[in-house]
Order: sequence, then C-alpha cells, then structure tokens
Amino acid sequence: MAGNDNARRVAALALVAWTLLALLAAGPVMAQSTTAIPLSRALDALAAGAVESARIEGGTLVLRDGPRRLTTPLPPALTERAYDAARQGGVPVIVRPPAPAPPPSEAASSGGVDAVAQVQQWGPILLLGGLVVVAALTLRMAGGARFQHRVRPARSTARLADVAGIDEIRDEVVEIADYLADPRRFREVGAELPRGIMLHGAPGTGKTLLARAVAGEAGVPFFSASGAEFVEVYAGLGSKRIRALFAAARKASPAVVYIDEIDAVGARRTGHAATGEREQTLDQLLTEMDGFRNEPGRPVVVLASTNRLDDLDPALLRAGRFDRKIGVGLPGREARQRILDVHLRRRPLAPDASPAAVAGFTAGMAGADLAALCNEASFEAARAGERTIDMGHFRRALMRLSVGPERRGRLLSDDEKRLVAYHEMGHALVAHASPHGHPVERVTVIPQGHALGITVALPEEDRFLATRAECADRLAMMMAGRAAEEVVFGEFTTGAADDLVRAAELARQMVTQLGMAADSTEKSLRAGLPPLVGAEPPERAEEAARALVEGGYRRARQIIEAHLSTLHRAAARLLEVEALDREEIAELLGPRPRARRLAVGGA
Ligand code: ADP
Ligand code: MG
Ligand code: ZN
Repeated sequence: MAGNDNARRVAALALVAWTLLALLAAGPVMAQSTTAIPLSRALDALAAGAVESARIEGGTLVLRDGPRRLTTPLPPALTERAYDAARQGGVPVIVRPPAPAPPPSEAASSGGVDAVAQVQQWGPILLLGGLVVVAALTLRMAGGARFQHRVRPARSTARLADVAGIDEIRDEVVEIADYLADPRRFREVGAELPRGIMLHGAPGTGKTLLARAVAGEAGVPFFSASGAEFVEVYAGLGSKRIRALFAAARKASPAVVYIDEIDAVGARRTGHAATGEREQTLDQLLTEMDGFRNEPGRPVVVLASTNRLDDLDPALLRAGRFDRKIGVGLPGREARQRILDVHLRRRPLAPDASPAAVAGFTAGMAGADLAALCNEASFEAARAGERTIDMGHFRRALMRLSVGPERRGRLLSDDEKRLVAYHEMGHALVAHASPHGHPVERVTVIPQGHALGITVALPEEDRFLATRAECADRLAMMMAGRAAEEVVFGEFTTGAADDLVRAAELARQMVTQLGMAADSTEKSLRAGLPPLVGAEPPERAEEAARALVEGGYRRARQIIEAHLSTLHRAAARLLEVEALDREEIAELLGPRPRARRLAVGGA
C-alpha cells in the first residue's frame, strides 16, 4: 500500500507541475536563476517536498522552485534514489528519456504468493489516498501559516481546460468564473450568484483542481486553506484564521476562497465539549458567509470541498451559505480518456498506446490516479531506456501502483518458479475460458510487492453491477491458482492463502448481503439474509458460502483439466519470458467464449 500512498501524494501535487508547464509554454518569460547544488542537498529538498517540481534529463537533476532552478549531476545509478525521494516529498518529476537506471535489487522478503489484481482494489486505495492528500495539504499549509495571520493569495495558473471529463458540471463552473471575471455584467441584470459552492465527490476527482481553475480562468486571486489546518492550530486560532482569510479576500475582491476538506471543521455537531474549538471555527465561517449578504459590491465566491456531503453540518448548507452543490463523480470511460489526454499531452506515446487504450483498463480510477499512472508509465519507459511510452509501460505502471515495484533478480528456485508459473497461468486460463471472465491483461512470475507472481484480468467496460454468473466466474478464477497446483503437481502450497481468503470473503458477501447464495432468489434467501448489526450470521449461511467456494474450485478444476495441454504450453512460455501481456496471452490461450450478460428472457 505504501506505493499507492506515495503515488497519491505525487498526484496531489501534480497540479503544480502542470500549471508550471503551462506557464513556461504560454506565459511571459520570467527571470530565471540557475544554481548548482550538491546531490545530497537536492535529494533532501526532494524528500522534504521543498521544491515545486523536478526534471531528470540526460544525467542532470533539475529542481524548480518558482523562477529558481537548482541543478546537480545525477549518476544513472542514483536515478531510483531521486525518484524515491521525490515520491516521499510528493514532488512531481518529469523524466526525459533515456535515463537508464538499473532495477532495484534489494533483498526480498516474501509474504503471500500472488496477487490477482482487481479493479475493486481501488476503493480502499482511494480512501487512503484521500487521507494522504489531506495530510500533504495540511503540511504545506501549516508550514507558513501557523504563527502568523498574514494571508497571501496565490495566482492560480490552472485553467478549466486542465480539468477534463466534467461535461455535466462545466456550464455551472464556467458561470461562476464568468461572474468573477465581470461581476457588474451579472448584477446589472439583477443576477446574484450563490456565494458558497460545495464541491463533493471521491478523493482525487479534481475538486481542488476545479477550484483553482475557477480562480485561474477568472483571473482573480485564490485564497486557499484546508479544514484540517483550522482544527490543528492552537486554541482560538482557528476562528482568527478564518477571519483573516475572509478579510484578505474581501480586500482583494473579486476573489475565490477555497476551503479544502471542509469536513474537518464542518462535520455534524455532536454536542461534545471537546469540539469547542471546531465549533468556534465553524461559527466564524458561518458568520463570514452570512456577512456577504450585505455586501453585493464585494464579490467573493467561497468554494469548499468534501468527500462526504452527508456528514456535513446542515447549518453549512443552508440558504446564503453553501447553497449550491456540485457533485464531481468518478470518471467514466469517456471522461477518463479526456483526463488522460490532458496528462499525456506532453508525453511521447508509442504507436500502440493511446488515451483511449489506457482509459479501457482503468475503470474505477479517479483523475489523480490517472495522473499518477501517467507519471509512473513515463518512469517505466525511462527505466527501460526507451523514448516513447507503450502499453506495456502502462500495464507495469498500474501494477507498480497497486501492488508495488517489481523485484527482479533471483529470488525463487527453479522449482518454485515453475509452481508459480502454473499457479498464475491457472488464474489466467480460467479467467480467459470462463464465459463471464475478463480479458487477461498481464501475467508474471516476477516477484512484486508481497506477491511472487501476478495475474491481472480487467473488465473491458465500466461495470456498476455484477451478475450472479459473473460473481460465480470470479470465484472460479480466484480458486484457479490452487486448482492448477493440484492438477499439475498433485500437491499444493501455501501460495493460495490470499486467494482463499478473498474467495471466502466474496462468497460470504454473496450469501449474506447480495442474496446470491443459489441460482434463484428464493433459494438464496433461504440460505441467508443480511445479518443484523452485531449478530452472528447463522451457521447455514457459512455452509452456503462454503458451497460457493467449493463450486468455484470445482469449475476451475474442470476448466484446467479440459485445457491441460494449453496450460502446459502457456506456463512454459511464461517461465521463459517471465511476463506476458494481453496480446500474447490471448494468442496462447486461444479463442475466448463470450456470453450475453443481461439478455431479456435469459441468455
Ligand atoms: P480532489 O481535490 O478531488 O481530491 P485534486 O484536485 O487534488 O482532487 O486532484 C489531484 C490531481 O489529479 C490534479 O491536480 C490533477 O493532476 C489530477 N486530476 C484529478 N481530476 C482531474 C481531471 N478531471 N482532469 C485532469 N486532471 C485531474
Ligand atoms: Mg482536494
Ligand atoms: Zn493465486
């Protein structure tokens, strides 16, 4: 998980890099100063997040901080170190290939044996990522603001064109920017825009970026603060900070005030005395918002963001306060393609790679995840010493973000490696040969994170529902590693531990939450209902879940036995090359059965 957190931090601050690029390309020439510094200082600055962005170019590391450029020679062997430091500090890095770096050959500790990657994994990652974003912002803010009330606005260089895939809300956002750019035009016809706008949606969907883009597009000062910072400060400072923030914004109006992660101050009041500081801060915020009513001539628009609209204090959402809500959702396929367009704009793609192709296997990912993926893919290309980014780089980048870096080097004995190859190919074969299985994107016998090998099967389109047949096929795919071990070796290993845990989890959900224990709803309901809070699920439910897992195992075994020669051939090829991608996997495994998913009257 650590890799994801870091990646998210990179993503959280990637905005800085993109706006910076835009500035360099289109803005007036700024006076630049270049200073040579020792490598150790550069690495420290990166790890501390003390610079805006970094570039690795032909053996030189260039750090940028405003108009300042700090340069230092970077031997290829230390590229990885610089990269790690940048991830630690959340500094976006641009790599100009080629910058060859040897793969990290750290001694490996192995945990479970493999990972069957699933899109569903991104759920918890998104949540965790959100927390990290809060933390990163808090750190940035706390640095300058703790002991002083002086509030300095930023000139946001973000533009609405930088925020992609938001067609449904674009008009609303454009209107706010238009209003700020020329408030008189609106007031002349009696139009008074809401002063408070609540952006809500999952972490990484671009809420902060959107707020910056509104200010950037309107060309007005951008005053930002984060909810967490108000709670953190010493007693009494929270409300003072709010007052200072709004005073400064009024003076600079028209202006945008942005309060990130407002839940930290604006969550429902619980009535506990311990929340006094927070209450004061919240009250001050409400007072400031109410004050706008009497000053139509001072257009200040207050944007706030939250991941959980339901948790907010209703007082915040009342008329005259944050009375307009704009929902920012996870991007669908089209929107992902558009977001990828933005982030791949300046990255050289190989002929086989395109925003459309990448959008196809990133269902469930937010804009920030996509930004991180593009950055990681650039690194994959640079590491391989290549000048363009191809689909293989994207696939490896996805795995690196969700599982951890590949740990090449000799870790497994030949025997164990062969076992892993059959185990993984078992997963791949069953995913491929099941009517509702997903196409297999990648199979490896390269240790990665805690896994000894990996199989990735991803849906071809965004899915919001799963049918019972799909869940059943998924159980078979999960059990297929173990089934392959048993069929081929007549023995089995500890390697399937993770698979078993996850299959059991899915099966229990099917029984006790989804009404999918059996092939009819009536039978399913007999097997189990959603458990009451705190109640043990009945024994019968556990029995039904066991039957589902067993059924999955049996299906997997049947498929493997029916295609044994294919499995041998594919496993041998996998052992030889260690990693197979979509095209070759499809070739090795032959034609794939396709089933109608939701046909009226049944398939
Ligand atoms: P949030 O505030 O919703 O958590 P951010 O605005 O901090 O999300 O997003 C982090 C980064 O992810 C952005 O700076 C940008 O690089 C990328 N990103 C997120 N959403 C989009 C989008 N719709 N279009 C382009 N880039 C996006
Ligand atoms: Mg944000
Ligand atoms: Zn497995």
